Amino acid sequence: MTPFRLLILAGLFYIGWRLIRKSFAKKPPEEVRQVEEPDPEDVLVEDPVCHVLIPKHQALRLRRDGITYYFCSEQCCDQFAGQPEQGEK
Ligand SMILES: [Zn+2]
Repeated sequence: MTPFRLLILAGLFYIGWRLIRKSFAKKPPEEVRQVEEPDPEDVLVEDPVCHVLIPKHQALRLRRDGITYYFCSEQCCDQFAGQPEQGEK
């Protein structure tokens, strides 16, 4: 076996080893992180129906008597809107 052939074999082994390593390392190259930057508008508001806290920009709004209410979902909004106004609390 000539030294030249040995070199080629070594090269092939190296390439093969790299390919194997590549196929094993099938992780995504970068972690996809969704870091939402803190938004000054992103205040937590309370849903008056289910009392869940929701970010303001995601909340559904309903104005009643000059007061803005925030809701987590349309269901809560409908429920609130359908309720007769009561001085509860
Ligand atoms: Zn709700």
